[in-house]
Amino acid sequence: MPFPELLIQGYRAFLFSHLRREQDRFRELAESGQSPEIMVIGCCDSRVSPEVIFDARPGELFVVRNIANIVPPYQPDERAHGVSAALEFGFAALKVKHIVVLGHAHCGGVKAFAEDTAPLTPSDFIGNWMRIMAPAMVKVGPRGTLSHAEYIARLEQANVANSLENLMTFPRLRSQVERGAIALHGAYFGVATGELLVRDEASGQFLPIAAEDHARLFAR
Ligand SMILES: [Zn+2]
Repeated sequence: MPFPELLIQGYRAFLFSHLRREQDRFRELAESGQSPEIMVIGCCDSRVSPEVIFDARPGELFVVRNIANIVPPYQPDERAHGVSAALEFGFAALKVKHIVVLGHAHCGGVKAFAEDTAPLTPSDFIGNWMRIMAPAMVKVGPRGTLSHAEYIARLEQANVANSLENLMTFPRLRSQVERGAIALHGAYFGVATGELLVRDEASGQFLPIAAEDHARLFAR
């Protein structure tokens, strides 16, 4: 099978848009190396690319993506830990100043975990991975009078909070957060609405940012 046509066409478009505009910046970054100040931990979902949502330029965001934007707890052992390695590179080598856990609406991973359905099976990787968010489910509690959609949204947001808590289990990161060298943030992107919510640290509530701009766009 040939290299996908979508990628070839996309690369052509990149050449005449991004690359033409950012060529100097790419060259500069190649020589000086990257020094992004912001790390984003997002979901693999094809609809929630952090670079697109935040309109980021090359070298601005250090991104790690995985199923359901999960941060596993600190676990120093002989095994390979991809997220932890990226995290360590972000805070220890690049010395990022912010780490953003970016959750999103309609997250297939969270939905599957909540409903205990495909693509979770006892033998695959996804089930084991998604179990890391179990404490979030306990915190949200039973669905009660919430609609299914509201319940899933609560879970998605609690999953972001759970990842933030797990970030604090990394001793070196924790000490940097405690002395104010790094800030941790939670955010939540509404895929259908394009709305971005940011977690208020004091209340734990997710509140809209740039709400006026968002409203203005949709008023047109
Ligand atoms: Zn997702």
